[in-house]
Amino acid sequence: MAPLISLEDVTKTYLMGTVPVNAVAGVSFNVEEGELLSVVGPSGSGKSTLMNILGCLDVPSNGTYCLEGDDVGRLNDNQLAQVRGRKIGFIFQTYNLLPRLSAVANVQLPLLYSGGKDSRRRSMAALQRVGLSQRLTHRPTELSGGEQQRVGIARALVKDPSIILADEPTGNLDTQSGKDIMEILHALHDEEGITVLIVTHDPEVAASTERVVSMRDGALVADQTSDEYVQERRLAARGNL
Ligand code: ADP
Ligand code: MG
Repeated sequence: MAPLISLEDVTKTYLMGTVPVNAVAGVSFNVEEGELLSVVGPSGSGKSTLMNILGCLDVPSNGTYCLEGDDVGRLNDNQLAQVRGRKIGFIFQTYNLLPRLSAVANVQLPLLYSGGKDSRRRSMAALQRVGLSQRLTHRPTELSGGEQQRVGIARALVKDPSIILADEPTGNLDTQSGKDIMEILHALHDEEGITVLIVTHDPEVAASTERVVSMRDGALVADQTSDEYVQERRLAARGNL
């Protein structure tokens, strides 16, 4: 069977004025169905650009990206939108909720176009999965950061995605709320087998995932198990690396 995600020599080039910049520079790697991994690296190393490509928000300038064996680069905008809608759930650092809508209406949004009479019931079920049954009619301003992020997770879940892409999901949260969010993401992986990719600056978040991919200057510079990553950080802290 084809890997869920397969990148081969993927490059994304942006023009800074007249100077081309490779935000992603020749990245190759696979993700199998059911993996939980984190992507780490300094600011500007290309993590978000990579996530946008994986999430079909953007296409590679060069190289190939196959999702479930299909070459995404060959899809038109409509087809890309369909793949996004069916297969991919996004979670953002700043939640990206609509302020005038209740929690349940925010979660319902991705279902509006695909229709379905039971979209409200499904949205309520998704909010229940993240422990927010008591907050259905609250608006984002009436929720804590951690609760808003849980609404964000419910909105990603409501489509039954095969992949969840989370770009710095704990970046705006206090330590405890961040832990709560990670617990939910771990549970989605452990109990429901959802593939989860997390971009993070937090070494503890990275260490908690099975696999850690490190980027620098648009390139993939390490692809480690969590244990190897923790060990390397220890050596680096002692000045041995
Ligand atoms: P990260 O998420 O790791 O901080 P990004 O993927 O956001 O990194 O950015 C990688 C590089 O690409 C940076 O140098 C950034 O300035 C550049 N870049 C990202 N998006 C664009 C864009 N839309 N236009 C031009 N340059 C961009
Ligand atoms: Mg980023």
